[in-house]
Amino acid sequence: MFAEIITVGDELLTGNTVDSNSAFIAQKLTERGFWVRRITTVGDDIEEIKSAVKEALSREPEVLIIAGGLGPTHDDVTMAAVAQALNVGLELREEVIEKIRVFYRGLYEEGVVDDPNLNEARIKMAYLPKGAEVLDNSVGAAPGAYFKYNSTEVFVLPGMPREMRTMLENEVLPRLGKRKFIQEKLLAEITDESKLAPLLNEVLGRFNVKIHSSPKGFGKYIGIIIFGESEEEIKRAKKFMEKRGLRFENV
Ligand code: ATP
Ligand code: MG
Repeated sequence: MFAEIITVGDELLTGNTVDSNSAFIAQKLTERGFWVRRITTVGDDIEEIKSAVKEALSREPEVLIIAGGLGPTHDDVTMAAVAQALNVGLELREEVIEKIRVFYRGLYEEGVVDDPNLNEARIKMAYLPKGAEVLDNSVGAAPGAYFKYNSTEVFVLPGMPREMRTMLENEVLPRLGKRKFIQEKLLAEITDESKLAPLLNEVLGRFNVKIHSSPKGFGKYIGIIIFGESEEEIKRAKKFMEKRGLRFENV
């Protein structure tokens, strides 16, 4: 099972904002048993977004998550770009207009905004690619979108980290089914990766696991994460390495 992530925003390309969304999404997908094969970042540019989406879809990941650029301003073009990538139009969704109306009325009553009424920019957020399912945004105005494209489940989410996280937890992960994947983080007592390499190759050949090793600088320990589909398989892989003389500490 493999997945891709696309984050959208000029501020991510200038370095003014660190792309924490892709790391968060990647962590959650990894925990769910997906290999995130690629993370792409593009600016708020309709052609760039469109080509990134088309390219990602052409690799046929099981899951594609796109985050950012769903706001009310003219530079938020993600939904339009996604619609173009799919060769469908944008469609005004009445049920979303109503939610946006209620959302801004709430903000007005709290004294956060000075105008409770719908305007063109606010209504813009109710346009979704034709045929997409609406993903509810319980903490913001812009809804997300979900659709299946061939074998790929595509989710389009807002970029505000609070909104993206809430929607990932509430709307995306429940649609991806139960967790089937486990990771164990360990510290291996070994001084450098080159000594670990032959042993890791042997383990990968014998067991159905993946291993990431991350050196902490030369010294006593190397961080290791073993990923697998069952605790038993991870245990077997770990035991095998211990038999070969490697000592572990749990992190
Ligand atoms: P804007 O009109 O400011 O672009 P928007 O409603 O389209 O707002 P996003 O662009 O999706 O919303 O994101 C809003 C804010 O969330 C950005 O200004 C940025 O600070 C933050 N943000 C967006 N994408 C990311 C990301 N990948 N990682 C961390 N923060 C992000
Ligand atoms: Mg933006």
